[in-house]
Amino acid sequence: MDSLDGQVALVTGAGRGIGAGIALELATRGARVALMGRTESALQESAELIRVRTATQVSVHPGDVTDEHSVEKVIDAVLQRHARIDVLVNNAGIVDQAQFLDIGLAGWNAIIATNLTGVFLMTQRVARRMRTTGGGSVVNIASIDAYGTDGPQASYTAAKAGVVGLTKAAATELAPIKVRVNSVSPGWVHTKMVEEFVTADAMKYLLGKFARVPMQRLVEINEVARAVAFLAGPGSSAITGIDVPVDCGTLSNLFVFETLPT
Ligand code: NDP
Repeated sequence: MDSLDGQVALVTGAGRGIGAGIALELATRGARVALMGRTESALQESAELIRVRTATQVSVHPGDVTDEHSVEKVIDAVLQRHARIDVLVNNAGIVDQAQFLDIGLAGWNAIIATNLTGVFLMTQRVARRMRTTGGGSVVNIASIDAYGTDGPQASYTAAKAGVVGLTKAAATELAPIKVRVNSVSPGWVHTKMVEEFVTADAMKYLLGKFARVPMQRLVEINEVARAVAFLAGPGSSAITGIDVPVDCGTLSNLFVFETLPT
């Protein structure tokens, strides 16, 4: 297990779900963690859990990744508290379902603003600081939806494909300043986002034999978090610009043959 001792990690969307799990994993490996999200009470809860389980320093920074001024304010506050940022995890994200012909511009813009523009803003502004402290590692949370759509969610699919593209572009341009940029694409993860999204019957199916997925199960939050920790840490020192699916094999099966009439 890679140690992140002495490193400072800023995690967006860290108040619950995958982001909270990532922050806990990085803290377990010794990183000081800074938690960002819009809801302070959720961040405080997440911070409390990390304090109970680890001996590391945790700080809470309410902020919105879509707002340039908020992003700058949070980064300044993290630097004031911890002096540096070695790891940035762009995890904050929202999901929406709408038929393509019905998508309104406001809904489209909201998804792109959080899931793509937020990643751009955070990465650019943190990388400017990393340049002065010798570099760092950025890990973006994309999705298997970057590779194909999954229900009526064109804006989400477009944003996540954009995150994979942005990861490659940023990795290439930031390599000379020793900033690595990679992404992780989770499949369906056992989170509240999924629980609230599907019916009780569908949830039973997902928790039972999830037949569409080669490993026949949901991904657990800590399985995403461990991949993020690897990409954040020294074990991946020559890896930049790649996307790592953590999907129990979902992307490896195009599911065409199985659906032919027998
Ligand atoms: P949750 O909805 O549980 O958590 C999302 C987090 O993002 C919340 O803490 C939320 O906090 C924060 N957030 C949302 N908007 C903003 C914003 N503008 N600024 C700052 N923080 C924000 O989602 P998950 O944990 O399930 O998902 C986390 C990431 O993983 C997302 O990017 C999602 O797209 C991706 N993903 C999830 C999958 C799944 O199966 N769950 C599968 C593939 C990818 P607050 O509202 O307080 O700001």
